[in-house]
Amino acid sequence: MTLHPDTATARHALPSYLDPNRLGPWGIFLQQVDRVTPYLGSLARWVETLKRPKRILVVDVPIHMDDGTIAHFEGYRVQHNTSRGPGKGGVRFHQDVTLSEVMALAAWMSIKNAAVNVPFGGAKGGVRVDPKQLSLGELERMTRRYTSEIGLIIGPTKDIPAPDVNTNERVMAWMMDTYSMNVGETVTGVVTGKPISLGGSLGRREATGRGVFTVGAEAARRIGLDIAGARLAVQGFGNVGGIAAKLFAEAGARVVAVQDHGGCVYREAGLDVPALLDHVKRHGGVAGFEGAEALDRDQFWDVPCDVLIPAALEQQITRENAHRVTARLIIEGANGPTTPDADDILRERGVLVVPDVVANAGGVIVSYFEWVQDFSSYFWSEEEINERLIRIMKGALNAVWQVAEDKGVSLRTATFIVACERILRARDLRGLYP
Ligand code: GLU
Repeated sequence: MTLHPDTATARHALPSYLDPNRLGPWGIFLQQVDRVTPYLGSLARWVETLKRPKRILVVDVPIHMDDGTIAHFEGYRVQHNTSRGPGKGGVRFHQDVTLSEVMALAAWMSIKNAAVNVPFGGAKGGVRVDPKQLSLGELERMTRRYTSEIGLIIGPTKDIPAPDVNTNERVMAWMMDTYSMNVGETVTGVVTGKPISLGGSLGRREATGRGVFTVGAEAARRIGLDIAGARLAVQGFGNVGGIAAKLFAEAGARVVAVQDHGGCVYREAGLDVPALLDHVKRHGGVAGFEGAEALDRDQFWDVPCDVLIPAALEQQITRENAHRVTARLIIEGANGPTTPDADDILRERGVLVVPDVVANAGGVIVSYFEWVQDFSSYFWSEEEINERLIRIMKGALNAVWQVAEDKGVSLRTATFIVACERILRARDLRGLYP
């Protein structure tokens, strides 16, 4: 176990909940901040700000189960940084989610929102529950009680939740309703990713996948990789991986392999993506898909491909498997899929990684549009939304590409430089209160 160096000095002693063990997503985030600190000039004096979340709320979520018993779930909402605006980030329902994971996810939202220059800080929420084990009624009660508990710190100008792993438009509708009932008025802007008929935005559901496709295609163009005919391997076939695969296939790429929680399917000539999406809708995963060869989940990493899209959970590309990746280009649809060790191996091997904090920012960009539309009660067309999304995504990629070239660093470090400068400049200008 490596101790975080700051634990050694009383002046910067870490609060007890900040596990000094550098393993795990929060430890990875700390390493990413350390890598960028030498580039921050005089703003580096504020860097400790990033190494501890601004606010953490842990809540007990008790609900009546259908069988008459009472169940308790552990819930979190973490506001990592609000220097540039209200907290913003999704809510994840997952049996393995932990406080330190939510802290890292909140921190990556701070970086992401600053990297694409939307006026938000970073936040994230989670409940330790496997939603597939709940009935619809139980899921609704759990969502409502969780929302009520975090109601203390969320709000349209304070912190705005959105969908993440295992949460969707229906969950956002319940969250919006619960918050609204508690404050006595309909507040559509308290969450984004809502159904269209409740103040949701056109294009939001597809936005993350569309953003992954947009920066992926642009990065491919820059390294001379032709998307038409390129072989794509996708990990995770939910809202991000599924939509990105569909858009790449429409642009002529061959989606040769898809791995998810339940299995891995492979077809050299390219999978029928619409048929696979339909299969996943009906069966809950890619396993059992006809018209493809079934592989062991682990064989996914050896599949010959040009582009790899990890779009599932954190810490998937590690020191152990980074040398097995055959792709030239990795586009991170998930948050935190690559460890710093793996980043170094991939860079040495000449594999380009477009980091999560740019690649998957499409979701929060259209969340920003949704929030603006809710405030003004004036809704935009889908063409307008997609056009603005693409413009922001390409602009952000161009900007970090330039920094990466100028400073001779990876795209991830370049993105952290751009984002940390924006966050810490805001911090510096605001000064300390009192
Ligand atoms: N959960 C998504 C993410 O990780 C979207 C967050 C949002 O729209 O606020 O970026």
